[in-house]
Amino acid sequence: MWGYANVAIIGIDLGTVNSVIAHLDEDQKPVTIHNAEGDITTPSVVLFDPAGIVVGKEALKAAAIEPEIVAAFAKREMGEPEFSKPIAGHRLPPEVVQSFVLRKLREDASLVLGEVTQAVITVPAFFNEPRRKATQDAGRLAGLDVIDIINEPTAAAIAFGVHRGFLSSRGTAMQAELVLVYDLGGGTFDVTLMRIDGQHFEAVATAGDVYLGGIDWDTALAEHIAGEFQQQFGFDLREDAAATQRLLQDAEDAKRALSQRMEVTLPVECGGQRARYKVSRGKFEELTTALLDRTRFTTTKMLQEAGVAWGDLTRILLVGGSTRMPMVHAMLERESGIKPDRSISPDEAVAHGAAIYAGMLQSLAAGERPKLSV
Ligand code: ADP
Ligand code: MG
Repeated sequence: MWGYANVAIIGIDLGTVNSVIAHLDEDQKPVTIHNAEGDITTPSVVLFDPAGIVVGKEALKAAAIEPEIVAAFAKREMGEPEFSKPIAGHRLPPEVVQSFVLRKLREDASLVLGEVTQAVITVPAFFNEPRRKATQDAGRLAGLDVIDIINEPTAAAIAFGVHRGFLSSRGTAMQAELVLVYDLGGGTFDVTLMRIDGQHFEAVATAGDVYLGGIDWDTALAEHIAGEFQQQFGFDLREDAAATQRLLQDAEDAKRALSQRMEVTLPVECGGQRARYKVSRGKFEELTTALLDRTRFTTTKMLQEAGVAWGDLTRILLVGGSTRMPMVHAMLERESGIKPDRSISPDEAVAHGAAIYAGMLQSLAAGERPKLSV
């Protein structure tokens, strides 16, 4: 317990699609640590190249060309004995795949902070004991001493709370809060209702969909464009794996741009034919409205089961890159009558909360009085 009173502890958001690391600066403010490539998020993707293991952006690019030696989405399988996809003929436990991601994060943090060995890692609120233990094991395999595991929505609530001032820097709520944490990431949707009273954080209810995320919005847009292309040229580009992969990537870029702009142009090239398609934000929202509805149904059902009405919520916190889509805030505001809090970047909130929590554990280890119960 006393061993980490004076060393840097990092907070790690080990995501399904992207991972993020943060620490507290000299003023005790959470700061995201850029990875070796200079990015704030690192794709949770591992390339088992014969020349060595590669993690992150480069591994993600390789996935389109050499899928048989690339592992992604391992978080979904944490707690299972083996990763569902053999890698180059080998069956690996999912925690081994995740340990490579954690090792890169640790090494990248060490470039900035000096040798880092201690971390707090976040997990979804619905993770059971075997999945939490697998996460601890992944940390250990990566050379990390995992001083605690905390729930992602709790971490997000801490980050927003301290930033917005509804929690003191000691983690105490000024008044009782009923907070909805709506987390729409790349491949999963998690929603959690939290009651925060004084120093006590309770996840009252949690629900979600492990097969719903930003990738489904990309796919819906790509399908639409492939349909237009087929109508124009009389053949289906989806039969060409490389063209499909390119289109999915371009659809993701177009989707991100549509969070800022009202209209984008998507170029398509396949079988010697080229075209450019205009997509408006309205059209994109129409194509994906059923996906958004699924998150609304899941949230409403969770609230109903907890005996809470949308109108009882005191705050809505947005987490996960996909909550940048304007259709998400509009829907949540329509349902609840309150403006969702977007004051922290939705990619960074969970890692920041983990770093703040690590700092709280550290002052506890240094002999200060306990602050939070989570
Ligand atoms: P996870 O926590 O599941 O690992 P993230 O929270 O990093 O994932 O979310 C990644 C998803 O966020 C991707 O699907 C990405 O396309 C999406 N995303 C990122 N930025 C934007 C944006 N500006 N508009 C819409 N979607 C975005
Ligand atoms: Mg996430």
